[in-house]
Amino acid sequence: PARGTPILSVQGAVKRFGGLVAVNDVSFELNAGEILGLIGPNGAGKSTMFNLLTGTIPMTSGRVRFLGRDVSGMLQLEIARLGLGRTFQHVKLRPHMSLLDNVALGVHARTRPSMLRAGLRLDREEERRILYEARRQLDRIGLGDRAHEMAGSLPLGTQRILEIARALASDPVLLVLDEPAAGLRRQEKLALGDLLRKLREEGMTILIVEHDMDFVMNLVDRLVVMNFGSKLVEGVPSAVRADERVQAAYLGG
Ligand code: ADP
Ligand code: MG
Repeated sequence: PARGTPILSVQGAVKRFGGLVAVNDVSFELNAGEILGLIGPNGAGKSTMFNLLTGTIPMTSGRVRFLGRDVSGMLQLEIARLGLGRTFQHVKLRPHMSLLDNVALGVHARTRPSMLRAGLRLDREEERRILYEARRQLDRIGLGDRAHEMAGSLPLGTQRILEIARALASDPVLLVLDEPAAGLRRQEKLALGDLLRKLREEGMTILIVEHDMDFVMNLVDRLVVMNFGSKLVEGVPSAVRADERVQAAYLGG
């Protein structure tokens, strides 16, 4: 999609867990080529919103459109196949597998769901294609020369970056990240920020769910702030930072 055109649109999203309204009538759009930050204090409903738009859990009401299609009610796998790449809040790498094999697993996410079900009986040609693509993604994130190390031996920050490479291996149109900076050291956060900026330059669209305000402020084009399940404020980082409602929410939360 051309830069600036809306590729994801959330309309009146609601999620109830019993009597608790975790997401309360939230709407926002994401435009091609931008990094949008979804922030808010703990318990604001960010992860729930993330799970709704990736199809991880069903919405109570509302709609999500992705690339012009109504994906509300679609399964996670179906949405992934349309081009939504994601990472998980808790790293889900295979620690005893090589970097290369971890990324190779991601190549399947979009193209070969039937083969996954068939137990990965790949022919040589297909296997070569997948390893080539995985290697290309590792080079893209600067880990090509460590392709055969075990994923579990990497520091946390590098594991996060590897996880992003795995998501990229499915050739997504949109990359959705849940708290990628959580638990990272300062240097690791800087490296992660640099990678995400580079991906944006290459035309990738990124939605980043993040608790760490400082990390997103220097990175994103736009922010949506949630508080108590609702959208509190939306705008460019400088305006959001100056907004008294946002400061109050973070201090109170
Ligand atoms: P955030 O990611 O912004 O910290 P969450 O989306 O995780 O917030 O949670 C929002 C609210 O929804 C919280 O009050 C949380 O306890 C509640 N919640 C989240 N998931 C569930 C669930 N599966 N069942 C019941 N309540 C949940
Ligand atoms: Mg969360």
